[in-house]
Amino acid sequence: MLIAGAPLALVAPRLIPLAILGSTAPDWLEWLAKTARQPVPHRGPTHWLAAWLVGLAVAALLPDPAGGLVAAFAWGGLSHVLGDALTVSGVPFSPMSERRFHLLGGRLRTGGAGEYSVSWGVVLICWTLHGQIAAPGGGYLPFFPNWAERYEQGTATAKEWRENRFRFF
Ligand SMILES: [Zn+2]
Repeated sequence: MLIAGAPLALVAPRLIPLAILGSTAPDWLEWLAKTARQPVPHRGPTHWLAAWLVGLAVAALLPDPAGGLVAAFAWGGLSHVLGDALTVSGVPFSPMSERRFHLLGGRLRTGGAGEYSVSWGVVLICWTLHGQIAAPGGGYLPFFPNWAERYEQGTATAKEWRENRFRFF
């Protein structure tokens, strides 16, 4: 959820809910298939890396707002599958490949410290970038509030800056 949502907080905050829905989709789609009595293996078809890439490509061909919505959902799913690819068991690349796909050697374990490091690392990178990127359309950016800037502009006190400087959301 963090890996899918943080980058979108910079470019399209309104699409974050869909990205989060997408970021959990590979797992809840398995549950949905089971409920519909069409069980699929864990980290099977719903975790094909290629399928989520195709989803992103399709989104690029669609006109807005559908394109943006599909892109956010597919990006969420892709981030989930890429995250799973960092783990020991990896993910299937496509129905055509027998071998599991791994990223960076696939050394992480689900729920382990590495998972949290990667997730919060992405948030930290986005937080660092946010000062360099203007809010889309010059509007208000609801995430990554820049407390240092607020302090400099006199709209926040030093105490507020100290208490909030590491709050991302
Ligand atoms: Zn998964």
